[in-house]
Amino acid sequence: MARHALPTLVAIDGPAGSGKSSVSRAVARRVGFAYLDTGAAYRALAWLALDRKTETTEADAVAALLKDFDYSIGTDPDEYFVTVGETDVTDAIRSPEVSATVSAVARVPEVRAALTELFRSLAANVDRPGVVVEGRDITTIVAPEAAVRILLTASEEARMARRSAEITTQSAETVAEQLRSRDRADSQIVDFMSAADGVITVDSTHLDFEQTIEAVIDVIHTRTKRALNE
Ligand code: C5P
Repeated sequence: MARHALPTLVAIDGPAGSGKSSVSRAVARRVGFAYLDTGAAYRALAWLALDRKTETTEADAVAALLKDFDYSIGTDPDEYFVTVGETDVTDAIRSPEVSATVSAVARVPEVRAALTELFRSLAANVDRPGVVVEGRDITTIVAPEAAVRILLTASEEARMARRSAEITTQSAETVAEQLRSRDRADSQIVDFMSAADGVITVDSTHLDFEQTIEAVIDVIHTRTKRALNE
């Protein structure tokens, strides 16, 4: 079968609780694109570190995990899964333990370099005309040349409220504190709170889920039409 030309890339960055994952997946489904959740790879590596009882403050020990990191992710927005080796970790990577460990893993330069390469290869090889790639450094590092680049933000208050509605096993205060401390750690590594040059900000603070999806799809249409006319 003939291969598509390179898929159209839609890069979406933003902090936790901005609705990034659910919005990106819904957008991909609607426009017939693949969906790549990059945070899942950092989470899966953090899961492996916990499973192996690796000392995550030691960068070398974390980097050494990469050679055994047999990772796979579903990029069909309707068939999302994450595996490490034979183990399905789709649910396990959302645990509070993984969330508390992931920033330490994501801080290691070898990890970022290896996963960036992995994301570029996964995004280039989807069997759809385009792919929505979401994370923290997609518009700036992984795919700065993407046809569509969006920063999805929301006020801290809105993000905390959304996240605590998702996580019912912990108090709202605990969820908010964990989110704040992860944001603090993550923002030392990459700036995902302000839009780089050429990146369009979609602020979802006062938008519901459907309105946010529509706002993102509007940006995709505007940007890809412009690209076609250039
Ligand atoms: O998006 P999600 O909250 O699942 O990401 C989990 C973690 O992975 C983030 O807190 C961050 O440490 C890391 N991450 C990253 N770069 C990305 C995506 C995620 O450093 N592109």
